[in-house]
Amino acid sequence: MSVSLPFFRYHPDPLATGSVRASAETCVCCDRSTGWIYTATFYTAQETNGNFCPWCIADGAAAERFAGEFTDAYGLDGVSEETLHEVTRRTPGFHAWQDPHWLVHCQDAAAFIGEVGYTELAAHSEALDQLRLDLRMDGWHDASQLEHFLTHLGQGASAMLFRCTVCDTHIAYADAS
Ligand SMILES: [Zn+2]
Ligand SMILES: [Zn+2]
Repeated sequence: MSVSLPFFRYHPDPLATGSVRASAETCVCCDRSTGWIYTATFYTAQETNGNFCPWCIADGAAAERFAGEFTDAYGLDGVSEETLHEVTRRTPGFHAWQDPHWLVHCQDAAAFIGEVGYTELAAHSEALDQLRLDLRMDGWHDASQLEHFLTHLGQGASAMLFRCTVCDTHIAYADAS
């Protein structure tokens, strides 16, 4: 597919994740119909009455004009202020049951790959191992219950998969409805 959307370092394929879709809708920021529209979260105290094109996300125009953020800064610990602003103000957010948050690895924000089930998560065993460890530390002490939860990801609960922009390691967190 030869779609030339703006490049988002921390959300490389917003079409695949469903955060951007083909649409004739007009962008409420630039008033243009670019053929693409943003579909996920935007946090602002202002009335927006519609959505943004990917270009107004990429250059920061939408976040600036409507004084909002696409993603909460929660979880973005230890990254530079520049990276923090790139993720929250110039990167498409994503759909999740719980408030979406970004993962950090190698002191940089990771790239959001998408919402996945067990099969896709297991294809990145390091992400599966890390999630298992995180859940155990969160209080999942019953090993068989934990394995049941993990193997049923994709049915109700799912995993949010990211890839480190520095070392390429995959990491994930669980999103439950
Ligand atoms: Zn626009
Ligand atoms: Zn890394």
